[in-house]
Amino acid sequence: MFFTASLWNDLMMLIGEVTVILIVGMLIGAVLVMIVAGLSIQNGQFYFPRLMKSGMVLLEGVIKGMCKFFGFDDTDLVQFSIKLQNMMNTKRFAETPVEKRVIYLPQCLRSAECPAHLTPEGLVCRRCGRCDIGREIDAYEAMGYRVFIAPGSTLIKRMMKKYRPKAIIGIGCLMEIKEGLELCDRAGVIGMGVVTLKDGCVETVLNWDELHEIAAIGITAPGSR
Ligand code: SF4
Repeated sequence: MFFTASLWNDLMMLIGEVTVILIVGMLIGAVLVMIVAGLSIQNGQFYFPRLMKSGMVLLEGVIKGMCKFFGFDDTDLVQFSIKLQNMMNTKRFAETPVEKRVIYLPQCLRSAECPAHLTPEGLVCRRCGRCDIGREIDAYEAMGYRVFIAPGSTLIKRMMKKYRPKAIIGIGCLMEIKEGLELCDRAGVIGMGVVTLKDGCVETVLNWDELHEIAAIGITAPGSR
C-alpha cells in the first residue's frame, strides 16, 4: 500500500494541527480587527486602513459569527467598513472628472405623493417641492453630475452600461451600500457610499450635507456650495 498506517496517522495529525492553527489564527485576527475598528470609531481615525480592509473582507464571516455569538450589533462595524472604503477611494474619486461621475438616489427618498414619472432613465423629478430631491438635484447637476433617481438595481446596471461612469456615489440603506461598494470594487468602478438616516421603502431621510461633502471632493467649480 502507498500509505503505511503510521504515515496516514501523521498526515491526519498534521491536517488536524493545521486546521486548529487556522481556526485560532482566524479568531485572533477577527478579534484584532474588531478591536482596531472599535478604536478607530472611538477616536474618529482610521488605523492601518489597507490591512483593515483586507482583514474585514477575509474575516467577514468570522466577525459576523462572533458578533452574533456575543450578542453584539454589527451595524457599527458595517458603518465603519463603508467609511473605510470611502476614505480609501477618496484620492481616486478626487482625480475623476465630474463628467465621469454619477449619483444614484434611491426612490424611497421621495414623498409618498411624488408625481414623478418613470422613464427608461429612472424617475424624472418634477421639482414639486414635496421632498428635498427637487432642490438638491439641481445643485448636483450644476456641479456637472449625472443624477439618477433609481427605482431599483436594474436601472443602475443599465445606466452603468450606457454611460460607463468611472466613479459613482450611491445612496441607500446600510446593506445596500455595503453590497454596492463591494460590487463597485469588483467592477473596477470607484464607489462612494452614503447611508440614509432612516431605512424603509418610503420617505426615507438623508443627511444631504454628507452627500454634498462627498460630491464636492475634487471639485472647485461654481455650484459647489
Ligand atoms: S420634488 Fe421631485 S422627487 Fe420629490 S416628490 Fe416632487 S417630483 Fe418627486
